[in-house]
Amino acid sequence: MKHGALIDTLLEHGPTSRIELSRLTSARQPTITRWINELIEAGLVVEVGQEHDNNGMGRPRSLIDLNADAGYVVALHIGERQVKAGLVNLKGKVVYQEIFRSEAADPPFAAHVLEEAIKATRAVLSRRTWPGSLLGVGVSTAGIFDPGSGAIGIHSFTKGCVGLVPVRELLARNFGEPIEIDTDNWAIAIAERLFGSRFNNFILIIVDEGIGAAAVLNGRVFKGKGYAGEIGHLPVHIVPGVAQTAFVCPFCGQRSCLSCWVCTKNILAKIRQATGIGTLEEVLVAAADRKQPLVEAIFAETAEALASVCVPIVDMLHPDAVVLVGPIISEPDVVRRVQDYLQVHSFAASRGIKVMASELGADSELIGAAGLVFNKLLGADLELQAGRGWAHAVNKVKEVKRWA
Ligand SMILES: [Zn+2]
Repeated sequence: MKHGALIDTLLEHGPTSRIELSRLTSARQPTITRWINELIEAGLVVEVGQEHDNNGMGRPRSLIDLNADAGYVVALHIGERQVKAGLVNLKGKVVYQEIFRSEAADPPFAAHVLEEAIKATRAVLSRRTWPGSLLGVGVSTAGIFDPGSGAIGIHSFTKGCVGLVPVRELLARNFGEPIEIDTDNWAIAIAERLFGSRFNNFILIIVDEGIGAAAVLNGRVFKGKGYAGEIGHLPVHIVPGVAQTAFVCPFCGQRSCLSCWVCTKNILAKIRQATGIGTLEEVLVAAADRKQPLVEAIFAETAEALASVCVPIVDMLHPDAVVLVGPIISEPDVVRRVQDYLQVHSFAASRGIKVMASELGADSELIGAAGLVFNKLLGADLELQAGRGWAHAVNKVKEVKRWA
């Protein structure tokens, strides 16, 4: 935990002097110096230069920073139709990635695509000499993770968890421990806390093929009894404008759940019906051009539906921010409209809240997967018995293990 607190501070502030680290962590300077020496010995932090006092007088101070390439996490995101595989360094940067698409609609999360992704990642690891160690394997998924069996599947309202693929077993055979697996709403929220906007209290909402949310409270993801954040099928009560929604949700059977309104597939179908514009890329270009009133109107409805569901959540928790993730969030108007709606309809938000796109960008799923491993190593999540994981990582770095 001591090293974790220091590394967390370096993630937030970048290159920092020992005296400043002592102030930021409230640890005494001799203690900080000892921790830093241990981390330097482990190869996890490095001296990156010097700074002078404001007046340029006095001895220059060395600046300490994380050694981004001291370690990597194998990151995998398992979606319904594709698997993304990558390597993420200690600063949360994706240094390699590849996408493996599945044509099969049934069963979802096809095991053969995952095996292909694992094979390719192993090949990348062995092709090059990487400067750091393999710290672990992180998996985020759009599906449901069953911690008991280590399998990933999809949730059916009538049949429970179906289409299970034994992901943990597959990864253990190929990479060894530690392996961290979780749903992408929680994984991305953890990564946003570590590598993104770093708020201590925020709501994160993924708006993609599926909808998921996470609440980070006092720096920790709140999981409840296991399904906290599954807001995709909350009923939405807004007046349909341009395109009276004709979708019946295949999961919950409602005509006006949040997924009916905001999942990417349904937005694209509505826009295609209204304008003939077909692909996501074309839709985003049309939205940015501001020359297609119907596209703008559908985006406005989408933002309103999303914001209407945010109101009770924001009023209940009054977080620092609502962080949005997903392809349509790259259209800045969506973020602005959600902010405006909350300003008018939420009591808490009228007293200050920030609505923003995730700072993780397009790689959020992979950084999220890696975030699960880093979070354990940093000891930020006590439920995961972090201290042991961190010691394990430090030992591995001390071995200066190479993947040649
Ligand atoms: Zn639904």
